[in-house]
Amino acid sequence: MALDGNTLAGPLSELFAVDVTAAVSRCAGCGQQDAVADLLVYGPDPGWVARCPGCDSVVLRIVRGPSAVWLDLHGSAALRIPL
Ligand SMILES: [Zn+2]
Repeated sequence: MALDGNTLAGPLSELFAVDVTAAVSRCAGCGQQDAVADLLVYGPDPGWVARCPGCDSVVLRIVRGPSAVWLDLHGSAALRIPL
């Protein structure tokens, strides 16, 4: 069962000074634009995976280790972050 993208507010707040859940991502798979808060999120183990509601492609992944965070945005063609 998918959670909504607001679930990522905590993990992303470790990395960014702005609320990235308010950002709009453009899916690299189908071009659909969605607020990060509206992505379909699975996790937390082994990491967070956010999928496009339009085509189910992986838009972003976050994996937190003991000393580093891996942020994979290759499924996001662009991320528009409001300031
Ligand atoms: Zn898509």
